[in-house]
Parts: sequence; structure tokens; C-alpha cells
Amino acid sequence: MKDINFLKENNARQIWHPMAHPADSQANPPDIITEGEGVEITDVDGHRMIDAVGGLWNVNLGYSCAPVKAAISAQLEKLPYYSIFRGTSNDNVIELGWMLQQFFAEDGLTRAFYTSGGSDSVEIALRLARQYHKVRGEGGRVKYLSLKKGYHGTHTLGASVNGNANFRTQYEPLMPGCFHIPAPYPYRNPFNETDPARLAQLCLAALEDEIAFQGAETIAAFIMEPVLGAGGVIPPHESFMPGVREICDRHGILLIADEVITAFGRTGDWSGSRHWGVKPDLMCTAKAITNGYFPFGAVMVSEKVAEVFENDKTGKGAIGSGYTYSGHPVGAAAAIACLQETERLQVKDNAAARGTQVYDGLLALQAKYDIIGDVRGGHGLMSAIELVSDRTAKTPLDKGAIARIHRATYEDGVMVRVSGPNLILSPPLVLTSAHVDKILSALDTGLSAA
Ligand code: PMP
Repeated sequence: MKDINFLKENNARQIWHPMAHPADSQANPPDIITEGEGVEITDVDGHRMIDAVGGLWNVNLGYSCAPVKAAISAQLEKLPYYSIFRGTSNDNVIELGWMLQQFFAEDGLTRAFYTSGGSDSVEIALRLARQYHKVRGEGGRVKYLSLKKGYHGTHTLGASVNGNANFRTQYEPLMPGCFHIPAPYPYRNPFNETDPARLAQLCLAALEDEIAFQGAETIAAFIMEPVLGAGGVIPPHESFMPGVREICDRHGILLIADEVITAFGRTGDWSGSRHWGVKPDLMCTAKAITNGYFPFGAVMVSEKVAEVFENDKTGKGAIGSGYTYSGHPVGAAAAIACLQETERLQVKDNAAARGTQVYDGLLALQAKYDIIGDVRGGHGLMSAIELVSDRTAKTPLDKGAIARIHRATYEDGVMVRVSGPNLILSPPLVLTSAHVDKILSALDTGLSAA
């Protein structure tokens, strides 16, 4: 490693950081993380803290998962790379495919298409949805519907269905044919409806309305996160996703669940869709599939969609998408080991139990601090607090105060993530009750520094 001064001086000079203004990163250089162990990370100054962000919602098993590290090393020795483009395969992707179809059998998802990450998975799922309709002779179904506040990665199709202007405006014009409906977000919504059940019905009515306006025969798919993540952790009311499923079925529209964050235990079950009793037609996964140790993802495909492709006699079902790194043998080896550990440890159960502890703790902090306008979570280990300067007017807290909270929490030994006016918690799923207590006490310290 280069010496500390070199790292600090050059941080953000030659590299542009994702999701950051280059000038901001130069003025306030990012924290340099150099080590990870268990659920903790250490920065370049030797300051050790709990990673309550879990990397980027992906390090579910923590930083010391020995079987995954061993699987990666062994695979590097055996076969560091081979492609699975038409005509070749590798042993790991076959074993992983078998494991994945067992993992998601309850969701009705039996085929996997491998990718290099979440944005790729979204891109592939959206492309497969259009192709599915073309193969079936409904080539006019090309549009996509999605939720405002939704996040679907940064490729152009994904950005087009994204529901946050920050990730869209500078890249417009995006893909034509993408339309958004209001998210079931009780704290802020155009209907001023705070009751989650009534709001879910209003959003479903908006979906029906948009389908009627566009013409169902022009729509390929609706894509949503079972719990909205980057948009500020917004769990929809339990009636919402089943309602979406019913509407999609009635209009012949495919339902894509973007489970890049929620798959593999984070919500307290193996998929977020399962939480709501919904079987999607396509499911995007990435992140925890390799615990963040290797870039990898998979789009899971239902029997309904698979049959159309596999029974196609016209040639239109040939998949014209793929990445050099699709089905990377090292990534697949990492994923096999991750799934084995994920199952062996039944991390979903700890996510559910610790998630409740986090949520209750955040509600207790809300009773103490007026600047916590909203507390969201309660479905496993993904939660957020939304910070305001005035609870009645719901004015977002200014950036300076949020930065002070973040810094004081960091200094007290806990890394949290700032996303707009939200502080987001998505720690590794293997954390203990004592870790949760520490996260909450550091947040208490941070909030008092606002
Ligand atoms: N979809 C969702 C729901 C996500 O949360 C993310 C990443 N946070 C993505 C897609 C994009 O994944 P990646 O960053 O791996 O490309």
C-alpha cells in the first residue's frame, strides 16, 4: 500500500467517484477504507467501525467469510476465466444454476441468465421482457412502467425506468416509452394520503389509469423493487405488490421484481416478492449473490417466460445479449459458496430479528429527536430515517447538518449512508444484538451533533 499521505493527497484527484460531484470529492475527499473483518471496517487512519451500510447493501455475510474467499482463490488457480457464450460452459455455472432454481423454487423461478451486476440484471430483464412479447407475436408491447422513487441502476434502460430525477436529468433524452406512477410512499405523495392501505389503492388506480392511457397492448413490463431501497427504504403496503401482480396478469404485462437488494435474505425472507406472496415473471439479482466479493448477478426466469423462449421455432427466441463476464467461473464459484453459507446460517432469520430491533430503536430515537420526520423499515435489515428541520412542514434537513450527523456517527464507530435527506441502514445480516445496540447509540451521538 502507498503511504497514507500519498493516498489522502491523491484521493479524488485522478479518480472520479460514482454518484458524487468531482469538485465535491476533491473539496471533501472520501473516507479511505483499507480493511474489513466480521461486520467491521477500518479506515486508512486505523479508525475501526461497524459497517451499518454493509458495503452497498451487499456484504450480507460480513467481511471474513472464509469459504467464499477460499472458493475464489481455488477457482483462480483452477480456471480464472472462460466464457459461457454459445458453444461453451463451465462447471460452476451449471452447479450454481441448479442451486438457484432450488433457492427460488417457491418463487416459481427456474432458469438463470448470468450478468456482471445489478445494472446488467435490470438491462437484461427489460430486454427479455420485450423479446418475450415479440416471440409470442405481440411485438407492439415495447413500453415499460415503473415507480417514481424506484432505483434500477445506471445503464440507459435502467435509468429510463428510474424514478429519481438525480439519476436521469443529465442523461436525457433517455429511452422513449418509459412511464412512471407514484410510489406508495406515505410520508410524501401527490395524494397527501398518509394511510398506507388507502395510498396503495390510489397508486394501483394510477397504474390502471396509465395502462388505459398508454394502451395495454403497448406495454411490455412493469418493474418494481419489493421494498424500494435507494429511494429511501420504502416498504409498500402489503396489498400493493399483489395488486400490481393482479393488474399485470389482467393486461398481459410482465412483472419484473428488481431484487438486487432484497434477494438472499435482506428483508427477512429469501426474496422480497415472497414477503408479499407474489411470484414475479422475472427477477433481477446481484449484490449478495457474491456478498460483494466478486461482481456478479443473475436474472431469474419463471416457467411462463422460459416456455415461450424454449418452445420458440422461429429463431426469435435466440438471446442477443451477453457480457464477456456473464457466468464468470470465479464469480460463480463465489456465488456457490455464498449461497451455501447463506443457507447454512439461515441469515434471513437473523435479518428479521435484528431488523425489528433496529426499527424499534429508530422509533425510540424519533421520540427523542424532532429532526427525525419519518422512520421506515420493519422488513428485515433495511431501514431509513428521513431528516427534516420542521416536522409539520416536512422541510428536508440541510446538507450541512446531515453531514455533521454522519461525521459524528462515524467518529463514534459506525458507518451509515446518506442518501438525500435519508440516513440508510443496511448492515451485514450476520450482525449481533450488541452490534445493533452500538449502531443505535452511535446514531444517538450523531443526531445530537446536528
Ligand atoms: N437495482 C437496484 C434495486 C439497486 O439497488 C441497484 C444498486 N444499488 C441496482 C439495480 C444496480 O446494481 P449495480 O450497482 O450492481 O449495477
